[in-house]
Amino acid sequence: MRDKVSFKKGDNVLVISGDDKGKKGKIVDIFPDKRQAIIEGVNFLRKHNKPTQKVPQGGIVKKEGPLHISNIKLICNKCNQATAIKRERTKEGKRVRVCKKCGEIIDKV
Ligand SMILES: [Zn+2]
Repeated sequence: MRDKVSFKKGDNVLVISGDDKGKKGKIVDIFPDKRQAIIEGVNFLRKHNKPTQKVPQGGIVKKEGPLHISNIKLICNKCNQATAIKRERTKEGKRVRVCKKCGEIIDKV
């Protein structure tokens, strides 16, 4: 079975490795096929823009770049810790993500 991407847009995550280790942010975009996510305020890339009529001097734009999901961990809303996730089914048969630390269901049911 293929390992599923356990993150969703809007999740709060902690960066656990790389230059931005220790930073927290919200996932603003996710690319499950590439196993990458863009996290608000994390992994800024500098992009040099060519001069335009509006900005004749050109400029450097900072933009969040994607991070591989192996570099991030979900922060549980309940216990506020970076945690691993397990997948469970509710009694109603709905698939939810559950915090391995406190056992709380992360997804709204
Ligand atoms: Zn928890």
